Amino acid sequence: MKILPVNRYSLAETVAGKIAGTLIDGTLKPGSQLPSEREMISQFEISRATLREALKSLEENKLIEARPGVGWFTSDLNAKNVSQAHELARKAAVVSVPAARLAGNEPPTGPRRVPIAPEKPIHIPNLRTDRQGTFEFISWWEREKVASAKVLVVGAGALGNEVIKNLALMGMGNLFIIDFDTIEAANLSRSVLFRESDNQRSKAEVAAARAKAINPQINVQFLNADVTSGLGLGVIRRMDVIIGCLDNREARLAVNRFCYWMNKPWVDGAIQELLGLARVFVPGKGACYECTLTEAAIRDLSLRYSCPLLARQNVLLGKVPTTPTIASIIGGIQSQEALKLIHSMPVEAGKVTHFNGLNNEMHTTAYVPREDCESHWTYGEITELPARAESTTLEDLLRIVRADLGPNAVIELDQELLTSLDCPVCHTSEQIFLPLSQVSFEAGHCAVCGTLRDTVLTHAINGDENFLHRSLASIGVPALHILRANNGQEYRFYELSGDLPEALHFRHFTRTQQEPDTRPVQGRIRIKAESQPAEGHADGATGRIKLRA
Ligand SMILES: [Zn+2]
Ligand SMILES: [Zn+2]
Repeated sequence: MKILPVNRYSLAETVAGKIAGTLIDGTLKPGSQLPSEREMISQFEISRATLREALKSLEENKLIEARPGVGWFTSDLNAKNVSQAHELARKAAVVSVPAARLAGNEPPTGPRRVPIAPEKPIHIPNLRTDRQGTFEFISWWEREKVASAKVLVVGAGALGNEVIKNLALMGMGNLFIIDFDTIEAANLSRSVLFRESDNQRSKAEVAAARAKAINPQINVQFLNADVTSGLGLGVIRRMDVIIGCLDNREARLAVNRFCYWMNKPWVDGAIQELLGLARVFVPGKGACYECTLTEAAIRDLSLRYSCPLLARQNVLLGKVPTTPTIASIIGGIQSQEALKLIHSMPVEAGKVTHFNGLNNEMHTTAYVPREDCESHWTYGEITELPARAESTTLEDLLRIVRADLGPNAVIELDQELLTSLDCPVCHTSEQIFLPLSQVSFEAGHCAVCGTLRDTVLTHAINGDENFLHRSLASIGVPALHILRANNGQEYRFYELSGDLPEALHFRHFTRTQQEPDTRPVQGRIRIKAESQPAEGHADGATGRIKLRA
């Protein structure tokens, strides 16, 4: 790999250089008027101050002159200023934006142009040995950002396959793939990563293995679990982007809330036959997924029915047929949006892009954010406990919580905990201790008489329970989870950071299996929330929250 040394120049110098370049190559004729300041600000994506600085430098070098009230005009290139023009143009040569664009000879490429990256040094990759080399020719591509990115892919079905394939090809450095499902023959028509021999294997595991095979330079990790109850929030907390490749509203709503709580952007995709949509949700920026749901849909999802088990079953019905082609298109858009987020490029947050494959029409519309949306809440400061879900009991956690928040503090659960199923006919009671979403309608029936049993649910631990000796894992709390507690006035957030080495390592399918880092987290560490609460929700820690309460 050969790196050519280049000096770095300010944005203003780069812009001045580009304008000088158009004088030299004749795109701008002497005496012609420059585009308006507003146009140039928009074209170069720079501030007015930067543009003024660039123009001043050109004026000082006698390359342009101001005509008051009219605008800027180019000067003749002559013996006095030609060397200055070349000197300025040389500084801008590190980036290539066609000079024709400045002169207005090139049609605009859309409302948003790729930002100039003057800091990017010229780097000539060796395309024979450098897998990611081609991307070096993309002016804004930042290899380190891509290589260090942490991306969570939720769902490894048709969309997930396309997304994971794209992320691996792009060299997205750390992929975490979660799916609870196993591969069956019908998946093979829409899943580029799966083979016939994979029948009955875990989708997440096979997808992760194939991603690693496509690009051994990336790190992967998989988890066979349902995202609504099986993924610790501490995983989401450490991600840069979350990509939802889901086929049901319940899982989307869960991902949406988790991402809002952790203040992370997520990219949703949905497909049906030849139709599809993609959308980016960024906490605090426009609508979130829950804002897009109708009142009736939210009611369906809140599971407040006489029979919560059946209500959930209905939510999961109505799976839609899809094609590999629409999965490619929408999965492609999703992957690209993630790439933009990794580069901190602008995205259309809170908007939806529909693609209609029947007439190849694509249109983007904005959702209206809902003031009363229950997802709009971001966790505050998170206390990292050296605790683990497997070994920490409810009693242990309650003790820690009450030391901080007083004797009346309670632990709030993310979803209803089904403690038992009681048969109204035989008057038997079966202890369950699983999140409601983990119990099927069939399992709700009495083994003796077949009657659908009554559910006994709780969503808070207040210290009166007769099961305080149980571990957090035994009531369905996932590893590396972040639990919340409140005393009626204040919320506090506690992460089971002792799970970190095992719950988040990105080390699956490494050729030399390294020893997992099993050092316990030392002591109780308080850290600031890694990211600021979303705009408009600065009072996150005292905000309201209701999740199926
Ligand atoms: Zn919302
Ligand atoms: Zn019974």
